[in-house]
Amino acid sequence: MADSSHAGPHPDPSEPPAGGLVRVHSVQEEYFHLMVRACACGGPWFSHEQAVERPGERLVHHVTARCAKCGKERTFHFALPGETKLDHPAPIREINPTNDPSEAVDAAEWMDLARFYLERIERLKSPTERVQSLLDARGCLEEALKFYGPGDDGPPPGALWSDASRRKVARHADAYRREALETMLAKMPTTERLRQADAPDQREFRKALKETARRRVGRRWWEFWKRGSN
Ligand SMILES: [Zn+2]
Repeated sequence: MADSSHAGPHPDPSEPPAGGLVRVHSVQEEYFHLMVRACACGGPWFSHEQAVERPGERLVHHVTARCAKCGKERTFHFALPGETKLDHPAPIREINPTNDPSEAVDAAEWMDLARFYLERIERLKSPTERVQSLLDARGCLEEALKFYGPGDDGPPPGALWSDASRRKVARHADAYRREALETMLAKMPTTERLRQADAPDQREFRKALKETARRRVGRRWWEFWKRGSN
């Protein structure tokens, strides 16, 4: 953590100061950051330009995105591990190989993303895409859990960086309890299993998917979000 380029999460990262450098562990994490920090108008960002510098140990990735709804542009600045290869994204959809919690997406936002990927599974037709979506859901839940200290039953205050996140957790505290997250993860196939299924030409794949669909979620725990919780 002795990286002077990073000053810790902003008090309200939904509006980071212009030029703020966001430390990430992977390009995948950048992508999630853009997803949860939509434009002020509510539209999603689409990156359309990028530049890379290496001022020191880390790789700095400037991503200029345009809002799909209002057309506004914004440049996000990310600091990636020095060994990151931008033209060869990690094949295994790895978000953050370390145990350190994210500095780009807070605990409630990871849960939002997990919900998004779980809901999406039912709409996807391609088995590969469904496994990828489940893999992303699993990864997001794991990232949320990294914020929980050994004695934390729910996300500690430092894990929630905005009023919106704090409100969500206060309103649906049960859904953010450690036990709820761990139960979800226990119902999903392991990351290794999902990665195998994500590999092309996977013969066991359909079998695994059926089993996954059965075991995946007994209860549609994420549905509470649909009830106008934003
Ligand atoms: Zn917009």
